[in-house]
Amino acid sequence: MNTERRRDGARQGAEAPASPAPERTSDCLFCKLYREGDHVAATDGFVVIRDINPQAPVHLLVIPEHHVDSFREISEFSADEDKRMLDFIAEVAAREGLTDYRVVVNVGPSAGQTVFHLHWHIKGGWA
Ligand code: 5GP
Ligand code: ZN
Repeated sequence: MNTERRRDGARQGAEAPASPAPERTSDCLFCKLYREGDHVAATDGFVVIRDINPQAPVHLLVIPEHHVDSFREISEFSADEDKRMLDFIAEVAAREGLTDYRVVVNVGPSAGQTVFHLHWHIKGGWA
């Protein structure tokens, strides 16, 4: 795809839409929380926040700096980003003391996605 990504998640270049979706601009909630949120943990390119409406005793959200709207666009991540993201998810769960947990990505509104910046739910702490 012939687009370039800016740090705020917006696109530029020939394919840029005249009016980009709000989620791809500085209006994106998770781009904002990446920059300004109360981070439980962070590593280069990824942060973790606690879900504001927890669905489990421990409910974390792993958010990459790299904005894509959903997991559908995962191929826009490099192999290095993929590996570091998955390693970080496992590391954060372990650091929270979780042995048994769920890692969930909701893809699309009918699957429950409400924030259109890729994020991984880590839910655990039942036992
Ligand atoms: P999704 O429904 O897109 O898979 O997940 C979005 C999650 O973000 C939801 O579980 C929701 O509770 C959480 N969330 C929405 N707004 C905020 C916020 O401002 N702060 C935090 N910490 N979590 C939020
Ligand atoms: Zn974003």
